[in-house]
Amino acid sequence: MLNVKRVVLRSRPGKNGHPVPENFSVEEIIKSTELKEGQVLVRTVFLSVDPYMRCRMNDDTGADYLLPWRLEECVDGGGVGVVEASKNQALSVGTTVTSFNWPWQTYDVMDGSLLQKVDPEMVDGHLSYVLGAVGMPGLTALLGVREKGHVIPGRQQTMVISGAAGACGSIAGQIGRLDGCERVVGICGSDQKCQALVTELGFTAGINYKKGDVCSALREHCPTGIDIYFDNVGGPISDAVISQMNPGGHVILCGQISQYNKDVPYPPPLSEDTQEALRCKNITRERFVVLNYMEKHEEGLMQLSRWVKTGQIKVLETVVNGLENMGEAFCSMMTGGNMGKQVVKISD
Ligand code: NDP
Repeated sequence: MLNVKRVVLRSRPGKNGHPVPENFSVEEIIKSTELKEGQVLVRTVFLSVDPYMRCRMNDDTGADYLLPWRLEECVDGGGVGVVEASKNQALSVGTTVTSFNWPWQTYDVMDGSLLQKVDPEMVDGHLSYVLGAVGMPGLTALLGVREKGHVIPGRQQTMVISGAAGACGSIAGQIGRLDGCERVVGICGSDQKCQALVTELGFTAGINYKKGDVCSALREHCPTGIDIYFDNVGGPISDAVISQMNPGGHVILCGQISQYNKDVPYPPPLSEDTQEALRCKNITRERFVVLNYMEKHEEGLMQLSRWVKTGQIKVLETVVNGLENMGEAFCSMMTGGNMGKQVVKISD
């Protein structure tokens, strides 16, 4: 028997509401550690909080590949941890494992077939990177740029990234630069974030959308127009970017976080002017979903790992400690409290 802490969903914010930490609560349970054949006891090391979780807080997620979290039940998402006891031949004690459906719990008994092995070498020992730069957000950046961006080295293209200081955006801009864009301009929510984009990540410029006029800042930093737009946020920021895109440009429709607390379908409807701009300038804007490229994930993770280990990609992270802070960390990430990937450290 083991004393285990877990996070349960207490209430839903409603489709038109903002999530608050009180939507979650922590409880202690006593869990049997007896293992059946194939099972392992895992200790959670890091848990991830991600924007897609907002739709899991609704009764109906609006996405067929995502189930809603259930009230009064343990919440789950991306996690990484270590096997502490095993009745699974493939997973010995001490193995590092990850899952997209890791319970927000300090320990759990899990079926080994639901876990993927992690080689800590891939992340130079930084296990949290499994949830960020060398994990789902890194793959989203890489495959989004490669599948939908149409970067052509030597063409002197300008790429703009919204949500640029976040988990996906901070990596997407660096990949744009590595793949050969001439200018990489990030839009984000503070001067401190803008500064990190330029001085730490090698972006050409950062634009703080909370200060000043985004349109005129874009004109200043993208003098030859915008060829590629990695869109994480949607709404008025995206309207401003698309209005300055060049004919034949490409929007990578990654996410629309500015609309996630509204009762609208995904992707949310565009304004007439923006639809017209896309049509007249023959700009592509196809929906991108990282899970649709499973066959490219393994190779993509190897590429991300190489870039991170050689320092060609710099990793930004915001780490909060303790399972009791999961709800707080999620809400903070949703409102820009993070720089780089937001993770929560559960144990050493
Ligand atoms: P981030 O680390 O970027 O965190 C979210 C960020 O969004 C915050 O830091 C905040 O930064 C910004 N933000 C919040 N509200 C607004 C707003 N109203 N307007 C502008 N910016 C806002 O999260 P991720 O990198 O994990 O996710 C980024 C996007 O990518 C999301 O839209 C997500 O849904 C999407 N995504 C899509 C995937 C796919 O397969 N298509 C897979 C993974 C993620 P700031 O300070 O700049 O406001």
